[in-house]
Amino acid sequence: MSTETDIYIPGYLKCDKCAFGGMFSVLHAADGEVGSQDVTGRHVCPNDGSDLRRVTWRERANDWAKAYENKTEEATLWKDYAIALHEEANFKLGDGFSAEFQALTHRTNAARCALQKRKLI
Ligand SMILES: [Zn+2]
Repeated sequence: MSTETDIYIPGYLKCDKCAFGGMFSVLHAADGEVGSQDVTGRHVCPNDGSDLRRVTWRERANDWAKAYENKTEEATLWKDYAIALHEEANFKLGDGFSAEFQALTHRTNAARCALQKRKLI
């Protein structure tokens, strides 16, 4: 029995080994017809030769949602780092060394480490 999760994206294939994904389209120049290729047969990944597989709309939407969440988290880490750097730099201008300055420096280092953990810097 077919369910909503079984609906495949026409012409779209994905490699589970290297995450390659591609839309296989057809273009007939003579009549201008454009469409998706029939991808029900065996197709191999151009990167590593692994079998490509069809992808459902739900899976693709979930992949995009996950990618969006990751980018949002990365943006938050960059924002935290920028704010920490800004506050540390402003503090340096006139207030000298103090426990408060140490706390700001610690915060900046923590923000930098969070970016390094994600291999963003
Ligand atoms: Zn691959």
